[in-house]
Amino acid sequence: MPSPDALLSSVFGFDAFRPGQAEIVDAVLAGRNTLAIMPTGGGKSLCFQLPALCRDGVTVVISPLIALMRDQVRALREAGVEAGALTSGNTEDETNAVFQALDEGRLKLLYMAPERLASGGTLNLLRRIGISLIAVDEAHCVSQWGHDFRPDYLRIGDLRRALDVPLAAFTATADEETRAEIVTRLFDDAQPDIFLRGFDRPNIHLAFAVKSGPRRQILDFAAARKGQSGIVYCATRAKTETIAAALREAGHAACHYHGGMDPQDRRDVETRFQTEDGLIVVATVAFGMGVDKPDIRWVAHADLPKSIEAYYQEIGRAGRDGAPAETLTLFGPDDIRLRRTQIDEGLAPAERKAADHGRLNALLGLAEALACRRVSLLGYFGETEVTCGQCDLCDTPPDTFDGTQPVRMALSAILRTGEWFGAGHLIDILIGNETEKVRARGHQDLPTFGIGKDRAKGEWQAIFRQMMGHDLVRPDPERHGALRMTHAARPILRDEAAITLRRDTMVTARRAPAKTLVSEEDAPLLSALKAQRRALAEAQRVPAYVIFTDRTLIEMAETRPATLDEMARISGVGAKKLERYGAGFLEVITGDLSENMHPSRRKLAGRAQGDLYDRLLEVQADLARGATGTDKPLSCSASLLAKVATLRPTDEGALGQLLGARRADRFGPAFLEVLKEA
Ligand code: ADP
Ligand code: ZN
Repeated sequence: MPSPDALLSSVFGFDAFRPGQAEIVDAVLAGRNTLAIMPTGGGKSLCFQLPALCRDGVTVVISPLIALMRDQVRALREAGVEAGALTSGNTEDETNAVFQALDEGRLKLLYMAPERLASGGTLNLLRRIGISLIAVDEAHCVSQWGHDFRPDYLRIGDLRRALDVPLAAFTATADEETRAEIVTRLFDDAQPDIFLRGFDRPNIHLAFAVKSGPRRQILDFAAARKGQSGIVYCATRAKTETIAAALREAGHAACHYHGGMDPQDRRDVETRFQTEDGLIVVATVAFGMGVDKPDIRWVAHADLPKSIEAYYQEIGRAGRDGAPAETLTLFGPDDIRLRRTQIDEGLAPAERKAADHGRLNALLGLAEALACRRVSLLGYFGETEVTCGQCDLCDTPPDTFDGTQPVRMALSAILRTGEWFGAGHLIDILIGNETEKVRARGHQDLPTFGIGKDRAKGEWQAIFRQMMGHDLVRPDPERHGALRMTHAARPILRDEAAITLRRDTMVTARRAPAKTLVSEEDAPLLSALKAQRRALAEAQRVPAYVIFTDRTLIEMAETRPATLDEMARISGVGAKKLERYGAGFLEVITGDLSENMHPSRRKLAGRAQGDLYDRLLEVQADLARGATGTDKPLSCSASLLAKVATLRPTDEGALGQLLGARRADRFGPAFLEVLKEA
């Protein structure tokens, strides 16, 4: 059995496992039932692809989306792995090729949509071809209570029973309930080995900003990241269209996407996004699970998401390749009102609504956080050891003040008006603004009238928003959104608790300029490498990242490999890709064609044999005309040298057999010396 470490570098071109991968690979290789919960971008696919290559037989991979399967298959083929998919999207030729590879015993990974499991023929097929492992991607699709439930996933349990082979399930969704459901439905309640990886995505920068001209804010954010792929999430369909239009007007490549669109139009956007470099998609949350692009460089929320889980999932689509990615989430009082109303007016039972308010509260807590966002985000998922330095609040700590007094004033205004009014009217009362509405209700006579006049209206708005954010007050849908006090506010009202608030600086909207992916010095090279990648991707009609990910190109731009050997050391450059693309990218870097390596030598690039080959070549050159320099020229072919470097004979006899008498006579002793040193 080939070792996983060796294949990690030779096939995938990675020099180390990501955190957590090695343990999972070991368990799957050992044939144990496993459930691995890893954040998006954590590198789940490798955890079944690698064992599939090491093990005998075929691994069947159940995956919910055809587009995802096709991309994985393409990426595997690029890396020289025999993989295929049986989906309803196949052409007849594609299907025939898969069957042929199966019959010839070549295929290592067979991707399959869950729908296929419904047909009796499929089970027979899988029995016949010797499946040795079942891998289930997006295993949470088996959960009936989740958003992504796929009834056909329920057939996987039967499949496992019928084939009686180990099963490895993967998901990024970690909540307790879903986990339990996966164990029940996929493993018949027999406890699998569970691996729970931390939720941190350290390469994603987190930032929130209070809305102050949201369209402008989004345009500014996108402008600073021109040419990078990004997603803008909006709460409504109409907004996706207007923002996409505004972005196009500003010179970006942008399109909208929402559930109301024709299925074909939606697929077109998905395909464009997947293959085009630097496209922006402005979407509702309908743009979700089908997005499997590893090089999304930013995600912006034009509106507040509905819960902390939704937020985490949406920003998590950025930077799956591990290279830096940025996010910006805009929010304001209207968002809070909208999200609360959606929960209240939904059809869920009462306890579900209470839980949903709780999830929204967690997100609002994050939005109004006074210290590191990562600490509060990961804290929600139960993680306590957090290092950050990658959020807006770590970049610039907020300006805070003791808000206890003004909050009490506001609460008192709410209570004295019977909890029947919204923030606008309440602020008029606090600052002593005698409007018609105030006079009509006689509110100018309240003791609270004008008690807050030393603060500007904008400051009060920020205070009310934060009170909503801390869930001290909630809009009541039965009173047209009037603010009502919650239990959480009582200790403050009674002066038993204090509260710290942040001073809103409207400047926050104008965020610091975007972090560039590479230094100014390396930027031109990175663009040149991207252009090379685009040309190759277009020629082969594959997404750019299938050739190389951003992260790989960034490493090339920064380390500037000068030879194919150095190129081979770049993360993401496996043997197949080195052979296919190495020279081309090297040319871009070195700017010339000097690296004219013989193909036999190229195959050894990055390996110890490569060095050996070079030394043999040197020795051979010295002896080309014999020790005296007067003999007839003689040399070994490149493939012969490669053979010597690979087989490393250490005695005269073995070497002589490879070289033949004449060459052994001239080069034998010198070669042996080199081989013994190595
Ligand atoms: P997910 O967990 O979301 O399914 P993927 O399997 O798609 O994540 O992996 C995300 C990205 O990370 C891919 O571009 C993949 O090539 C890369 N990757 C996975 N494992 C490693 C590794 N050990 N070293 C470097 N990159 C890796
Ligand atoms: Zn932080």
